Amino acid sequence: MTGKFKGYLNRLRENLETLDEQIENARRNSKAKKKGDTQALQWAKTLRDLVELRNVTLEKIKAHLLGRDETGAVMEPRDYYDCDDNPEISFERDFDRLLSPWTRKDLKLKCKDCGVSSEQVSVRHFPGKYKDPYHIEEITPPKNIELCQKCYEKRLSQESTDQNPSQDSVKDSANPSSLDEQITSMVSMVQELPPDQRQEWIQKLKGLGVIRET
Ligand SMILES: [Zn+2]
Repeated sequence: MTGKFKGYLNRLRENLETLDEQIENARRNSKAKKKGDTQALQWAKTLRDLVELRNVTLEKIKAHLLGRDETGAVMEPRDYYDCDDNPEISFERDFDRLLSPWTRKDLKLKCKDCGVSSEQVSVRHFPGKYKDPYHIEEITPPKNIELCQKCYEKRLSQESTDQNPSQDSVKDSANPSSLDEQITSMVSMVQELPPDQRQEWIQKLKGLGVIRET
């Protein structure tokens, strides 16, 4: 059963393969002298129709891959891959990848957290964060991670607890011992950084008076 599953692009790919065979056949017949002029002419017309049908199928695939612009015209690779240095090649890569034969097994992705392989695993987007609990810039770049629903929800709930450090730090700064603890843990965190980053953070911390000149 798994091998028989056909996706939309798989069907279009099969249509193309059939059309290629028919075009080859029609081309041969249209050139065959012995069949007589009328038959050769008939085959030439068939060839023309088949080539047109093939172009329509290719255009459908292109529209499926690249979408349409606001006028309804199929997008061109250079518009779709607008940040890409080599849009035509990127398009050919996607075209080749998406039209390669595949089975239902290929639809499964592996969850990065629990390792389960399933069609339910999908690419989840985590927007980047800018947090500034100690008036020090910390930027988390956005991430796309392949996760199952359970692990996605788990990460979301973890993020939302991490996400309100400003509230906590306001609460904590009223409590001197806990501020001390935070500074200690921050200094030890900075000590573990690679040397080039460490120096930068030490300067920041000095600038804030968190640590004294040594
Ligand atoms: Zn998972």
